Amino acid sequence: MANFKRKIAQLKVLRKLFESRGQISYNRNKCTHCTLCEKTCPVNAITVSRKDKNWSIDHNICVRCTHCVAKCPKKLFF
Ligand code: SF4
Ligand code: SF4
Repeated sequence: MANFKRKIAQLKVLRKLFESRGQISYNRNKCTHCTLCEKTCPVNAITVSRKDKNWSIDHNICVRCTHCVAKCPKKLFF
């Protein structure tokens, strides 16, 4: 059952990725700048500054692994 739920969650992410034309995006207004997405990104595509309250992503190096999507405690991605 847990496996089934995980598969459904993955499919939802894939669908959202398709709808966003393959680009990871997030809800800028609700981000707490916790840096978890930045820390989990394997290619350092995300840069977060707590001090300046900045969040940015380099779409050219993002490999669409969706680790950041899974890690965000606020579920802000897409
Ligand atoms: S999808 Fe993967 S590679 Fe792209 S920003 Fe998120 S963690 Fe990094
Ligand atoms: S994990 Fe979510 S809340 Fe934390 S910095 Fe990234 S987008 Fe913002």
